[in-house]
Amino acid sequence: MPTETIDLAAVRADFPALHREVDGCPLIYLDSAATAQRPQSVIDAELAFVTGANAAVHRGAHTLAAEATDLFEDARATVAGFVGAAPEQLVWTSGATAALNTAAYAIGAAGLVREGDEVVVTEAEHHANLIPWQQLASRTGAVLRHIPVHEDGTIDVSAAASVISSRTRVVAFAHVSNVLGIVNPVADLVALAHGVGAIAVMDACQSAPHLPLDLPGLGVDLAAFSGHKMLGPNGIGALYGTAELLDALPPVFTGGSMVTTVTLETAEFLPAPHRFEAGTQPVSQAVGLAEAVRYLDRLDMGAVHARERMLEQRMREGLRGIDGVRLLGDADAERIALCAFAVDGVHAHDVGQFLDARGIAVRVGHHCAQPLHRRFGPAATVRASAGVYTTEDEIDALIDAVGAVRGYFGAA
Ligand code: PLP
Repeated sequence: MPTETIDLAAVRADFPALHREVDGCPLIYLDSAATAQRPQSVIDAELAFVTGANAAVHRGAHTLAAEATDLFEDARATVAGFVGAAPEQLVWTSGATAALNTAAYAIGAAGLVREGDEVVVTEAEHHANLIPWQQLASRTGAVLRHIPVHEDGTIDVSAAASVISSRTRVVAFAHVSNVLGIVNPVADLVALAHGVGAIAVMDACQSAPHLPLDLPGLGVDLAAFSGHKMLGPNGIGALYGTAELLDALPPVFTGGSMVTTVTLETAEFLPAPHRFEAGTQPVSQAVGLAEAVRYLDRLDMGAVHARERMLEQRMREGLRGIDGVRLLGDADAERIALCAFAVDGVHAHDVGQFLDARGIAVRVGHHCAQPLHRRFGPAATVRASAGVYTTEDEIDALIDAVGAVRGYFGAA
């Protein structure tokens, strides 16, 4: 899809937060991988729900409750459709962290991982797709193994083939790492997992906002993503699953809204997805997220990806050209527009403050991926990440500012 199909001026006009200043400078928001800004239509959709139809769903006989239920279930169908899934395959959660924890607990409770079994993750996972599997392994007596990444940041697929064995029950991996920005070889990992009968779990947090995503087409069994990274609200995300696996998994949280019959001794649970959604639901957030994916659909995810690839190449080439800047995992691979880098002689937090004083918002630290940082060396890096609203000029401003960092701190 040609990049001209996105009218960037019109897109930017849709995002109120982009028009503020920081320290007298126009905001340059390059932290979309942490949380993306929201277009006015998402804010309006949430507001319209709260002011017009605010009620609890799936209970109550009154008009507002019926309207809220329709909006909530329509939102599910819309968001499921965005990732190629049927509505019953999409479980609402409070975010990707909750979705991945739900997956790990339910898999353990179903007895699908037992003592002596193996659970495999990659070295490049966000803690949200690492610690739940560590905890599952320690609860069950399973062994956690990892697939290494090459120096250029790509997954070592041949090592994966030897790490994944007949003892493997789960293979959990990010579609796109939140530090490296590289699109991982999903087809290879899914084939290796399924070849030994293991469950393939994908963290789609950093792909859902940037690439056309067809979860059934990718063949993963479970996947997770977060609303606030894809132009939507906080407090909402989803666990996608194949119908077969969701039917086999028990609920993790129990209580209201997820049952058919309850006695003092027992409870019968609704089918998926409702059986995983105990309690009062985040309805305005679901409505907002549905509007966010409608917004992305209107832009066209193919066009979004093409434009962000162009931004990614501009950012990477610009940063590569600066003396003393080291990019983590610098492979020429398919990517999203995200670069993590270290500046020789200057702490990442100092770089972040230097950029902030120029209105440039980036993330600094280990980005919830300590093992990956340990593998590459620096304890902390600077991460710049673009969104649908990022301009070429903003990327150039980042490159100019980073080019001045070492001189400013006397490290050049
Ligand atoms: N996975 C990845 C790759 C992420 O980037 C993040 C957020 O930073 C998460 C999981 C966790 O998402 P959330 O904090 O929205 O639950």
